[in-house]
Amino acid sequence: MGKLKEKKLCKWVKDDDLEEALKDYKRLVVSATHLCTKCGRVCNDKKLLCRAEKLD
Ligand SMILES: [Zn+2]
Repeated sequence: MGKLKEKKLCKWVKDDDLEEALKDYKRLVVSATHLCTKCGRVCNDKKLLCRAEKLD
């Protein structure tokens, strides 16, 4: 996934990366552990969310 590796998931849609990186995106959200309280996105890596909060 290269250039997206360190990029916040929250920014993918804004920057039109989602379509290109849909496979990676699925992998990151399928067993989500955290929620971004700003954007409402979920991810299994809190580092990729801009305001991560753990899911219960
Ligand atoms: Zn966010």
